[in-house]
Amino acid sequence: KAKEAGKNNCQFYTRGMSASAVNYLLLENDLRRAVEQQQLILHYQPQIDLQTGEITGVEALVRWQHPERGLVSPALFIPLAEETGLIVPIGEWVLREACRQQKAWLDAGKKIGRMAVNLSPRQFRQKNFPGKVEAILRETRLSADYLELEITESCAMENASEAINQLNQLHQMGLYLAIDDFGTGYSSLAYLQRFPIQKLKIDSSFIHDIRDDQNDAAIARTIIGLARNLHLKVIAEGIETEYQADWLRQHGCDQGQGFLYAKPLTALQIEAHFHAGKFSFDGNVVSLDSVA
Ligand code: C2E
Ligand code: MG
Ligand code: MG
Ligand code: MG
Repeated sequence: KAKEAGKNNCQFYTRGMSASAVNYLLLENDLRRAVEQQQLILHYQPQIDLQTGEITGVEALVRWQHPERGLVSPALFIPLAEETGLIVPIGEWVLREACRQQKAWLDAGKKIGRMAVNLSPRQFRQKNFPGKVEAILRETRLSADYLELEITESCAMENASEAINQLNQLHQMGLYLAIDDFGTGYSSLAYLQRFPIQKLKIDSSFIHDIRDDQNDAAIARTIIGLARNLHLKVIAEGIETEYQADWLRQHGCDQGQGFLYAKPLTALQIEAHFHAGKFSFDGNVVSLDSVA
């Protein structure tokens, strides 16, 4: 049964609500057709420079517009797609659509910084994955400078030596690489410093209670310090309050992403933030002459 959830004011399903195996199987059948029936859509969540307030990029987040169920959250169908292998065509669609949109915005003079795309483990580990990215960049005529790829810490660390090999190929193509959900996995620091990455994303679970939970605050401080020492950019996910933003700014976190700034927005909503070629955020006009 669908329920009005807060996120994007749309209908979402959670595991709890669709727990039955039958439901899950029905969903799998529907998911097989989702790509060809053009039911997937991308939303884009701005990433903000905490010092200047400028937009540094957007993260593409997939949603599934199910004909009967309404908007289905990726938290539900991405794990299903991963289990069934459907993540390969879905992930390819996401990458192509994100590149197409970024190129269209660039051609229209709408600079939103980098377009970040999430990769799932099965997608990332495909032997020919770097080649697929290269083909999509060529097809969409997008320069690699404008694309960022996110892999989760657990994906990177699970098979670290293969991940390094894969990341090196992507890095040589000129892509910007980020480790997502950082702090939730089991990082080997020896491997971390061998990854050709540019950015760590502090998982939102450490940001949520940063005011009241000294352990969360200590972990966030540690990740910021680690990023600093490894010469990586660091971004905090899930910023919802001014207190969290101020704390992160004061502790040297470079960037932030969260409902405080913007929820994931449709392409049209992103475009509505442009005035005279500049992305204006809550009346705060910023210039974007180069990719941050
Ligand atoms: P993620 O990559 O860590 O993305 C951040 C999630 O946090 C997004 O959820 C976003 O809407 C949510 N979020 C952002 N700001 C806030 C905030 O201030 N408060 C709260 N409570 N939440 C916030 P979403 O869009 O539901 O995506 C969930 C996860 O699904 C993503 O986590 C990512 O792991 C996965 N996902 C989404 N799109 C894709 C995709 O295209 N491919 C793959 N492989 N995974 C995807
Ligand atoms: Mg992400
Ligand atoms: Mg994340
Ligand atoms: Mg997360």
